[in-house]
Amino acid sequence: MLDKVVIANRGEIALRILRACRELGIKTVAVYSKADRDLMHVRLADESVCIGPAASRDSYLNIPALISAAEVTDAQAIHPGYGFLSENPDFAEAVEKSGFIFVGPRSETIRLMGNKISAKEAMRAAGVPTVPGSENAVNGDNAIAIARQCGYPIIIKAAAGGGGRGMRVVHTESALLNSLFVTQSEAMAAFGDDTVYIEKFLQHPRHVEVQIMGDGEGNAIHLGDRDCSLQRRHQKVLEEAPAPLIPEDKRREVHAACVRASQQIRYRGAGTFEFLFEKGRFYFIEMNTRVQVEHPVTELVTGVDIIREQLMIASGLGLTWKQEDIVIRGHAMECRINAEDPKTFLPCPGLIKHFHAPGGPGVRMDSHIYSGYTVPPYYDSLLGKLISWAPDRNRCLNRMRRALDELVIDGIKTNSTLHRDTILRDSEFARGGVDIHHLEHILSR
Ligand code: ADP
Repeated sequence: MLDKVVIANRGEIALRILRACRELGIKTVAVYSKADRDLMHVRLADESVCIGPAASRDSYLNIPALISAAEVTDAQAIHPGYGFLSENPDFAEAVEKSGFIFVGPRSETIRLMGNKISAKEAMRAAGVPTVPGSENAVNGDNAIAIARQCGYPIIIKAAAGGGGRGMRVVHTESALLNSLFVTQSEAMAAFGDDTVYIEKFLQHPRHVEVQIMGDGEGNAIHLGDRDCSLQRRHQKVLEEAPAPLIPEDKRREVHAACVRASQQIRYRGAGTFEFLFEKGRFYFIEMNTRVQVEHPVTELVTGVDIIREQLMIASGLGLTWKQEDIVIRGHAMECRINAEDPKTFLPCPGLIKHFHAPGGPGVRMDSHIYSGYTVPPYYDSLLGKLISWAPDRNRCLNRMRRALDELVIDGIKTNSTLHRDTILRDSEFARGGVDIHHLEHILSR
């Protein structure tokens, strides 16, 4: 078992990782920026190291500072969490070259999956269904023919894209070339790589993803699926497990394909295959080679502690679960609670005067905030996640409504009223299976 781990992240996920380490008897090193001295996990960690000023690029994205923190504290491993450097293959490589264990896949796997063209190619080779489109990079010479083959509308996507950026939908051939050049130059500016490709644009898909875990030796299991269709500007707002209203044979097929692909690439650690699901079919769009924000819903329906498994695999102890022991029980739902104005969606950092977390049966709150904590303006606005579990989806919804009624965050604005008064009152959402545009539809009413 690992002896000491550096937590290269902040906020709720840093605290979540610390909790898993504690339960395994692993010592923890918190790293924090000058704006983050008061983070909960910094207070709780065995050791802590200030890694730089508030700006992420000088602290949480500062690879030498993170590696020095591991060196000075004599830690063995670095857990990247999600966001920041978690999917940066250069970071994973630097960690391992410096003699530390990266809690995640090999850097080659991150590199392969970080390029969406090579990721799709690897998935096709493993028999995972992908969105129809170009198999290689697209340019001014081949774009028209490829787009005709797909049939409009199409979407131009940056191979190196992420975070919902570097994508453009094109409805007619007359707009194609101009959109192609704009997307290429945006991709160059944002990701330093102007490679783009074309996909058929699916008009009413759901976002359904499959959680897998692999030991890096060719063994892998799946932990079922999640539905993350409730999004605003491609940002997930509410997630649930399992994805409602999917035919069982399709579900089994996609789970099996993801396990096969994970085995084929000898995947190590926790990973997520993201799909669009439309008219009864799954289409792979990308793989996330890290733990996801929404991992708790899977934890509640399977009983698997995903962060603990990541740490066990990084310790060289392999997978502690067998596929036949994974049983999906009941239904779980997660509301992301953000420090933002529920009307304008603008971030609302500031002092939390009073915080009360909901409790009772089937309720979990993953959050780093506390009464008297000041949310700094420099990072994303996630304050925490409120998660509910119940034997069926309807009771899970009722439990979430009840939990949201109990949640108190005074002093700053949050989106909890959006969840309580808008999403959880929507009759179509209550029926289940809404598409990725549904939330924006409700909001525009
Ligand atoms: P990112 O890495 O930036 O998150 P993804 O490839 O995961 O990019 O796509 C993000 C979102 O964009 C998807 O969840 C979906 O809403 C939309 N999208 C991507 N590809 C397509 C497509 N082919 N058809 C329709 N929507 C798409």
